[in-house]
Amino acid sequence: MKTNIRSSRIGGFHKLAVDQRVKAVAEFAGLSLDEQAHLLNTGNLPSDMADHLIENVVGTMNIPLGIATNMRIDGLDWLVPMASEESSVVAAVCNAARQCYDNGGFVTSMSGTLMIAQIQLVGVRDPEHARIRILERKAEVENLCNECDPILVNLGGGFRDLEVRVLKTQSGPMVITHLIVDTRDAMGANAVNTMAEAIAPRISEWTGGQTNLRILSNLADRRLARARCIWRTQDIGGESVRDGMISAYHFADADPYRAATHNKGIMNGISAVVLATGNDTRAVEAGAHAYAARKGHYGSLTRWEVTAEGDLAGSLEVPMAVGLVGGATKLHPTARIALKILGVASAEQLARVIAAVGLAQNFSALKALATTGIQKGHMALHAQNIAMMAGAVGEEIDHVAQALIQAGKVRLDLAEKALNDLRSR
Ligand code: NAD
Repeated sequence: MKTNIRSSRIGGFHKLAVDQRVKAVAEFAGLSLDEQAHLLNTGNLPSDMADHLIENVVGTMNIPLGIATNMRIDGLDWLVPMASEESSVVAAVCNAARQCYDNGGFVTSMSGTLMIAQIQLVGVRDPEHARIRILERKAEVENLCNECDPILVNLGGGFRDLEVRVLKTQSGPMVITHLIVDTRDAMGANAVNTMAEAIAPRISEWTGGQTNLRILSNLADRRLARARCIWRTQDIGGESVRDGMISAYHFADADPYRAATHNKGIMNGISAVVLATGNDTRAVEAGAHAYAARKGHYGSLTRWEVTAEGDLAGSLEVPMAVGLVGGATKLHPTARIALKILGVASAEQLARVIAAVGLAQNFSALKALATTGIQKGHMALHAQNIAMMAGAVGEEIDHVAQALIQAGKVRLDLAEKALNDLRSR
């Protein structure tokens, strides 16, 4: 039970060195010397780098990095690094990819690398006129945006288009300007936010209104990554499996309760590659879920059909704002190695690989759900996790996990008993 004696008001906490912060937290939370040493061991992310990536750093959080094998995308073979704490995620991708490898694997494409920055204008009496007045300034907007980021312009990116909408809201009409910017190999948040901040005062000037928010939209629907794949019915266990998967997809597309879990499975794959490459998982997740609800009904991000030949055709279309520069991509040493393993030459290529992984993940989840159920595949790894929770170490982990699987019940109390039995032998 927490008492009120301890205070979270630690003045100047952000100015302390990492080890001093650990001491302060240890005092607050009663951390042992071993626990403090554990925090200070930041593994393969140097603590001074961690301290620059985010604020108030006291350690790092290690997440396993696995490799998805069997991936054949656009005629090439890929090893795909995935960072996830969840068991079965990497295996699911490997299995799905194995089952379509001989049929050519995945085909991917991308709609472009355009990001949207929004500028909110309020307090105009004539919003429709204001909209037109802003649109008249397109050339000026283009110049101002491009002046903000000459590097991006030199790389072939920069301002592409201007869109303005009048939005009806609870506080009256708002005039919303969209700057459409090609951010090339950057995710682009900082790039477009800078542009929005530069343009906003001019919009106030041109319209007499007041500009408030200036920020990118994570609904990156001008940056859609697409993947498609055909699994031959004979390679996936026959027509009943295929039809079960189609029915599972129809369930997800019709029911938001199911679609949330269906899409979460897709994001198991997507977010793992996004994280492994130092990209922003929340940005991609926000975009994906907003896109899944774009028609006013939250549905499936994937589509599943039967081809004229009777095979299973899966496709995925999802906003994919990822970069090879910016954020942690170039700074985090593990992300750099992950990008080298992938060998992608552009942010677009990375986005396309990630879409293929999302589709593969969904294939495996649907297949498991439509056949043996999700727990069978999860069981072995889940049993190991429970064995470790019970205190098993080294070879004990497999022994205890095996005992749980044989008993057909993966429970902590049974794991503790199995561990006791093993140790008292
Ligand atoms: P950034 O500003 O660090 O890097 C982008 C810049 O790098 C470009 O503006 C360009 O000048 C330069 N550049 C060099 N080589 C380039 C190339 N080949 N292609 C494109 N640009 C190149 O990063 P960013 O991508 O603008 O922003 C990403 C970061 O912003 C992430 O860390 C993200 O978490 C964070 N962020 C996200 C949100 C959000 O998603 N809502 C909001 C704010 C910040």
